[in-house]
Amino acid sequence: QALRQIIRQQACNSSSPDRGTDLNLLVNKAPTCQSRTAEPTEDDDDTDRAIFLLDLAQVVRQQRRFERQLPNVQPFYAVKCNPDPHILRALDALGVNFDCASKGEMAQVLDMGVAPERIIFANPCKPISHLRAARRWGVQLMTFDNEDELDKIHVHYPEAQLVLRVLADDSSAVCRLGLKFGAPLSVVPRLLRRALELDLNLVGVSFHVGSGCTDANAFADAVHRARQVFDMATELGVCLKILDVGGGFPGADETSTNSKDVTFADIAHHLRQALQRHFGHLPDLTIMAEPGRFYAHSAVTLAVNVIARRGASGRPGEEDHVRYYVSDGVYGSFNCLLFDHASVRGLPLLRAADADHDPNHVDHDLKLHASSVWGPTCDSLDCIAREAQLPLLEVGDWLVYHDMGAYTACAASTFNGFVRPRCYYTFGADPIDAVLEMLPNTFPLHGHLMQLAAAMQGAIVATSTITGRPDAHVLVEGD
Ligand code: PLP
Repeated sequence: QALRQIIRQQACNSSSPDRGTDLNLLVNKAPTCQSRTAEPTEDDDDTDRAIFLLDLAQVVRQQRRFERQLPNVQPFYAVKCNPDPHILRALDALGVNFDCASKGEMAQVLDMGVAPERIIFANPCKPISHLRAARRWGVQLMTFDNEDELDKIHVHYPEAQLVLRVLADDSSAVCRLGLKFGAPLSVVPRLLRRALELDLNLVGVSFHVGSGCTDANAFADAVHRARQVFDMATELGVCLKILDVGGGFPGADETSTNSKDVTFADIAHHLRQALQRHFGHLPDLTIMAEPGRFYAHSAVTLAVNVIARRGASGRPGEEDHVRYYVSDGVYGSFNCLLFDHASVRGLPLLRAADADHDPNHVDHDLKLHASSVWGPTCDSLDCIAREAQLPLLEVGDWLVYHDMGAYTACAASTFNGFVRPRCYYTFGADPIDAVLEMLPNTFPLHGHLMQLAAAMQGAIVATSTITGRPDAHVLVEGD
């Protein structure tokens, strides 16, 4: 109330026409009071806060695979997928460039000292203020897919280097982006002519086969379409020099990929062949890609704490279904269930079996129970798994989810005041071991893993062992 009063007073007194600025200043200057914030301080107890475990060695491994399989393609990491600063720094150090969707992402990457020439502003429909920022900062390369965008660029950034994004067949992708972006081939001649009329710099063609592409042929088909655009441009006297094959590369580690899923190796194979067939005659062509999921997906493991439980009484007549409430949910990292059509499976970590070392020792019932897993907020939409088969867990136990690096934290909210997971970084630690290092009194069900894996239809990750590798440990802790 006091703040509102001050704002009203200040607004009345203000001689500045820019009221927004005044209010911002005022909020910054407003007297602070000692309030309880949801963001923990050092003294706060956040023992049940969810934990991200980010393995930078996995990011490095993925880049090595990319280099090996697509040696002629320069990757531009799609920052939107996971803008974690350590992922960005690692990729920068490995010579990967960056695909930014906005002024904010460009600022983050430029602030790391990355040269503007190493960025593509790959958003075909850009706010004018972001376009102007790109101009100020010297980020020249950008995509477009419509005439209005060309008119905007003509006014606000006429020197920009333009890449025409064409529509690809994304019908097999988990997230179809063609519903929103990409020019059909039928409108390409008009767009090319308009760009020439406006005296803009046309430099290349891009496409995106959809995120989570499940059909390696989609890349081959899109490369063929791009070739048709190159031919149309040649007819108009324009010599294009960049082909951008976008993102869509699967993020799963090849070794753990379900045999039915398309692998990165399959896609790279089809892509190499198509590039040779359609662009082999252009040895000076710059070929680039915008992988996001490929780098981030398998680098992150999430551990969530069982904060509450209902329905485990086992009394006759009571519902035989256990509900677990955990410390992260659909409004947090598991937003990927809604936005990214992800499916996830939790690996239970149970308390130490040794009662001497664990005063809270509970004899775990390894029988599987019909269960459901819910996020911490008060909304019933906040459900991670409606039907899970889990051994009986206690409040305080942990569930671990692998492959949580892509399109998770970046889109998480703090709805209901629940904070995002704390992030820890490792270089090469087994994720389970690393989580265990941080969570006393837990151990994975090694003895029973195979049995559980069978019961849980192989979905449980049964491969973790305590490696004891001296180089495998938690390196950095941070928010
Ligand atoms: N490039 C653009 C323009 C995108 O919109 C996206 C994802 O939305 C990506 C690249 C990254 O895609 P992926 O994470 O599937 O590689």
